[in-house]
Amino acid sequence: MVNQEDIFKKVISHAKEYGYVVQSSEIYDGLSAVYDYTQNGAELKKNIKEYWWKAMVQMHENIVGIDAAIFMHPTTWKASGHVDAFNDPLIDNKDSKKRYRADVLVEDYVARIEAKIDKEVQKASKRFGETFDKNQFLKTNPRVLGYQEKAESILKRLGRSLEAEDLADVKNLIEELEIACPVSGSKNWTDVKQFNLMFGTKLGASAENATDLYLRPETAQGIFVNFLNVQKSGRLKIPFGIAQIGKAFRNEIVARQFIFRMREFEQMEMQYFIKPGTQIEWYEKWKELRMKWHLSLGMGEENYRFHDHEKLAHYADAASDIEFRFPFGFKELEGIHSRTDFDLASHEKYSGKKLQYFDPELNQNYVPYVVETSIGVDRMFLAVFSNSLKEEELENGTTRIVLKIPAVLAPTKAAVLPLIKKDGLPEIAHKIIDDLKWDFNVIYDEKDAVGRRYRRQDAAGTPFCITVDHQTLEDETVTIRHRDSMEQMRIAVSAVNETIANEVAIKHWLKKME
Ligand code: ATP
Repeated sequence: MVNQEDIFKKVISHAKEYGYVVQSSEIYDGLSAVYDYTQNGAELKKNIKEYWWKAMVQMHENIVGIDAAIFMHPTTWKASGHVDAFNDPLIDNKDSKKRYRADVLVEDYVARIEAKIDKEVQKASKRFGETFDKNQFLKTNPRVLGYQEKAESILKRLGRSLEAEDLADVKNLIEELEIACPVSGSKNWTDVKQFNLMFGTKLGASAENATDLYLRPETAQGIFVNFLNVQKSGRLKIPFGIAQIGKAFRNEIVARQFIFRMREFEQMEMQYFIKPGTQIEWYEKWKELRMKWHLSLGMGEENYRFHDHEKLAHYADAASDIEFRFPFGFKELEGIHSRTDFDLASHEKYSGKKLQYFDPELNQNYVPYVVETSIGVDRMFLAVFSNSLKEEELENGTTRIVLKIPAVLAPTKAAVLPLIKKDGLPEIAHKIIDDLKWDFNVIYDEKDAVGRRYRRQDAAGTPFCITVDHQTLEDETVTIRHRDSMEQMRIAVSAVNETIANEVAIKHWLKKME
């Protein structure tokens, strides 16, 4: 546990030190759960968005992208259910005065049971060695079965109570499980209350006739209200999708996990409009496609899993999360939801406008069903960043810190380094940069010995270093060094561009989805 916390602390301090993420308004002691992306972070974030956009919009003939406003007519949020139902159940510990999400307290308790199962598996795997059959063990070991049953029954009860809005029972559950406040260790809890997560603001100059507005808590509604505009102007036929990347705002109760849970964050969402009755088929299809997208980045299959929801949101008839192994355990990275016709039907009702599709094959009108894929840019950033940060033991006994960001997402693709600062080497390095900068983000670095520069670029996540030395003057070759393998090769200056392109091109990575 301590170890995991240490790793997470290292992730946060590395993000600051290497120009990725800092607390917002840090000079004023920061703003809780709000963060700024600095020079490298801004590039990584942009690359993540591009990787998603290309996979979703450019690679699908029937998916288009939009960019809707953050402010929306306030009735939108009545229709979407956010005014009445976008609540989190909160509970306070009377001794520490700390506030928690009641469901998260219970889920953390279950995560500890699951950790016990993992431990049993590890122990048994050591004991049985090569003959160990994990699936068989999980199905038959009495202790593991006991843990599993307990975890399942707790989650079922939590799901049932939340569904029925029986907040008293959520509190009972916390008391029965004897869950203590992680800060004070006390079990002295208040009642569970609902708390609306939307930020409100006002539109208009004078107080009397100002309109109450909300900062959007999700980007999806900007897609729903534009469903017909896009369908008609694009003459789109069902099934088709509308994608969007943009900011969303939530007044989160628990906001302690760096950029995992922020109050201002960014989402990449796609709503797929389909014929009613085909939703389960499409839901399964999008689960599969989205998992493939994640796996294409090569961050380890074992770091992802699906978590199907027990408790469904008010709009959903099936929902699953893609969870990722963050430094603090498996947590939601992306949601895939079958939203039925809830949103469009509700907007029809509140706006009085028809939001229907004429299906030429069936010769009839209907309100389409929707399957949504929704991923947080910042969570994806944290997944990539935390998974990439490694401390490696080298053969000569030293260690190196390296940020193995998938090359396609790396902020800077190459650093060009003159071996020394004279003999015309800097001039050649600049000439190489002048050629590369048309295609890639590249930087020049001449300070310190070349070994130190390599380490600096490793830690910053730069996949290639190009070193210009005296041999370059003679035969127009340079050394190209790979960040991950530390392998060095001599190649012609004229081949540098193509060598980098082969490894950073989006096409090369997205092809792995096929
Ligand atoms: P959680 O249960 O973690 O609060 P959620 O189920 O409310 O998340 P959704 O409403 O499904 O999340 O939002 C879709 C995606 O948006 C999430 O999978 C996540 O990646 C991202 N997201 C949601 N809330 C936040 C937040 N406060 N900060 C950063 N990303 C977020």
